[in-house]
Amino acid sequence: MQRILVVEDERKINDLVKDYLSSLGYGLTQAFTGQEALDAYKRQAPDLIVLDVMLPGVDGIEVARRIRLEGGVPIIMLTARDSEADKLLGLEIGADDYLTKPFSIRELGARVRAVLRRFAASDAAVGENEVLTLADLILDPARRRVERGGREITLTSAQFEILRLLLSNPGKVYSRRELIEKISGYDYEGYERTVDVHVKNIRKALEDDPANPRFLLTVWGAGYKMAERP
Ligand code: CA
Repeated sequence: MQRILVVEDERKINDLVKDYLSSLGYGLTQAFTGQEALDAYKRQAPDLIVLDVMLPGVDGIEVARRIRLEGGVPIIMLTARDSEADKLLGLEIGADDYLTKPFSIRELGARVRAVLRRFAASDAAVGENEVLTLADLILDPARRRVERGGREITLTSAQFEILRLLLSNPGKVYSRRELIEKISGYDYEGYERTVDVHVKNIRKALEDDPANPRFLLTVWGAGYKMAERP
C-alpha cells in the first residue's frame, strides 16, 4: 500500500483529504504542524506528501526545503493565495505539483495518482533505462541521476522527466502541452505555464549561464528543444 502524508493545520481540510485519499486505497498519515510533518517523514518514509504552505511554526515551504535535502519524495503543495508568485515558489522549492485552495478533492485525487504513476514509471521503466548523453551532460534513468562535467545535478521528478524527454531527441521541438502531458500523464488545461517554471529551474541547475542557455533552448511560439550541439 502506498503511504501518503497529509500536512495541514485546518482539521476539516486535513480530514477531508485523509478520508478521500483513503477511499482510493492509499494509507494516510496526518500531520498538523511543520514539526509533526518532519517527524512523520523521518518515521514513515511516505511515498508522497500533500503539503499546505500555511502552517503554524515551521511553514510548508521550509518543510519542503528540508525534505528536499534528504530525498526525492514527490510533494504536492496546497496554497491559499492565488498569486502566481506563490505557485512559482512552490515549484522553486522543489514541489512536483500544486493546487490552489479552494480545490476539488477529486482533482487532488487525480494529481496524486498522476504524480505517483509518473514516479513509479520512471523508477521501473524497462527498456527505457538507456543512459542519455549530450556533450558533458549525462542522464541515467535507472539511477535517476543527472550530472554535467562530473557534477551531480539535483532535479525534482517533474524536471527529470522533462529533461529526459528533451534529451531523448536533441533538436526535436516539444510543445508545452506535450511536456505537461509527459510529466502529469494527462493534459491539465491552464497549467502549461508550469512547464516554463520547470524549464527555468532545470536551466538554473544545468546551465553555466541560465539566462543564455546552451542546452535547453526556447523555440519561440512553439516550445522547447535540446540543442543538438551545445
Ligand atoms: Ca493551513
